[in-house]
Amino acid sequence: MKVTYQPDILGEGRLFMVALELPKETPAVKLAVPGSVQLLDRTPLPAKTTLRKYYFKALKPTPKAEIGFVAAGGSATVAVEIWSFDDLREYRTLKGTQLPRRWPLGEALPELKKSQTITTEAYKRYLKGRGAASNWLKLDDETIWQMQPDSTIPRWHWVNVKEGCPTHGTKVYEARSFYPWLNDRRKSLRTWAASVPYSWQMVCPVEKEVYPSNRLGDGDFTSGPFPDDGFGGACLYKGKRYGFIAEISQSYCHQMLSVAPQCASGYLRTGDPRYVHKALVALSRLAVEYAYLGTMPQHRHRNSRRQVDRLGPAPFSEGPALKRSGFTVYCIDQPGYQRRIAEAYDAIWPAIDADTEIIAFLKGKGFQVETGEDVRRFIEENLMAVWMQGAMDGSTASNEPYSQWGLARMAEMLNYERGTEFMDWLYDRGGKMRTFLPNDFFRDGAPYESSGGYNGMHVVALGPIVESVQHILELRPETYNDGRFPDLSRSRRYHNVFDFSMNTVNIDRVYPRVGDDGAHPRYSKRGRRTFQNGGTAGFEHAYRVFGDPKFAWALANTPGWKPSLEFPFPREEIELQAAEWEDSWNDDSRLTDGYGMAMLRGGEGDRKRSLWMMYGRARGHTHDDMLHMGLDAFQ
Ligand SMILES: [Zn+2]
Repeated sequence: MKVTYQPDILGEGRLFMVALELPKETPAVKLAVPGSVQLLDRTPLPAKTTLRKYYFKALKPTPKAEIGFVAAGGSATVAVEIWSFDDLREYRTLKGTQLPRRWPLGEALPELKKSQTITTEAYKRYLKGRGAASNWLKLDDETIWQMQPDSTIPRWHWVNVKEGCPTHGTKVYEARSFYPWLNDRRKSLRTWAASVPYSWQMVCPVEKEVYPSNRLGDGDFTSGPFPDDGFGGACLYKGKRYGFIAEISQSYCHQMLSVAPQCASGYLRTGDPRYVHKALVALSRLAVEYAYLGTMPQHRHRNSRRQVDRLGPAPFSEGPALKRSGFTVYCIDQPGYQRRIAEAYDAIWPAIDADTEIIAFLKGKGFQVETGEDVRRFIEENLMAVWMQGAMDGSTASNEPYSQWGLARMAEMLNYERGTEFMDWLYDRGGKMRTFLPNDFFRDGAPYESSGGYNGMHVVALGPIVESVQHILELRPETYNDGRFPDLSRSRRYHNVFDFSMNTVNIDRVYPRVGDDGAHPRYSKRGRRTFQNGGTAGFEHAYRVFGDPKFAWALANTPGWKPSLEFPFPREEIELQAAEWEDSWNDDSRLTDGYGMAMLRGGEGDRKRSLWMMYGRARGHTHDDMLHMGLDAFQ
């Protein structure tokens, strides 16, 4: 008998597996299971291979839980350590790295949020009286709590991206080429809207058959022809691995992250405090999971198929995995959730202490909370502070500067006195915002990647960062009185960024396509546009900063534009400003010599045309398309 997999250290309440290597015909192995763990399931007999897997739950903290295995041919003892929630939060180092990864490292959270900072009166007025989805109120607290999958189960984007479905192969991609799998309600798995409680099953788009064949949610790890236990190397079928549970679990993690924002919005819409309570249940559950991942970063998302295919999840001793690790979901998705969760927490913040039910609920779970302040500390320390450290560790790495945006928004929401440390990171450390424009953008204001969406992300996120920083400085004038964090929009290149987006529009309708920018070009009639990317929010920001009639022109001539909620200028004023800017301003030929784009232009009105050539080199999402040419004309 050989132990081929065992974990080393577990969190209380977590799932785990032990795998043994035995001759196939060996009869049932006898187990001696201590009270601190519970046996949930095991490989059914007759065994198909020499591998036998045993599934457990860690019930109680203990320095040593010994599980005995006895079979005809031998025996083995497996010892694991089980940490309580408080054990997990203890300060320790692993390979020289301070754990838990929670700001400030090696200290308790020094302060709490003291006021509502980012939910504006205009936003409250806008939402008030609008109906809210009441679905979350129908679920009891425990059901919401159970929506967060155990992070010991690896998450991944695809069941098997190359092979598709074990029954239908790559036919799954015929109707929908990306992410074709469905949830139990036969909607895309990526709508994050599966039935709750979860079925832990997904549906093939071809014949609507269900995978895996076991019901993990009911403690069934093994049954049927397509079993996937979630952490034993996926469903092995005809020599290929299908990670059903990995894609399902990832989708459920996203679904859990959507609960608090929807409940917070429900509260602003209706004023019903039950939404506050449900949001707090969801935030507290996330706090527990983030606290776990603060000390057990080896169980973060990690964006690697290898985590799914391996026999058993990474042991603690393999960690810590920090860079680009994400948390419950992919690192790229983290900043968006940071913003949404920050906004949700801020929205309900004034009503948190009135919810005494959450105190009873968390006490029932064994957490030491007695007051509303304790609840806030529980969430801020275990969720927000772990997330902020994650941002500073590069664990929320995303398309830049989205990670900076996520951190800045969360810093603006928390408004801590020691938030200067977040600002130091944002300006001069990993966030590098002090030099981002001059060092990363081209001299003509072009971002550094392919045209359209990828470059657009670099433009879209700038304005919100600039505005969050301004607000952070305004909230604490006494802390930020030394000019250490100058207004980023004062960069001489800032205006160019919005110029480039506008200057590259050809025939009022398109822009030169470079690198990863949608599918191959096809002729279609395009609507009018006034900028390549950045969105009307970006140009509202640019107008607020510069008051330039050019940017008013961009807004006024964008079909369907209406001033957004927080934009302080009425449409009439923007139209007046836009009239100062000639409609023919962009009809002449143009070179943008930073990005390297030549646009030869001619014609008038619908007969405008442009022959363009790309002669520069962007640095991301590019193709082998140097000296690529295109003709834009309206037929
Ligand atoms: Zn199928």
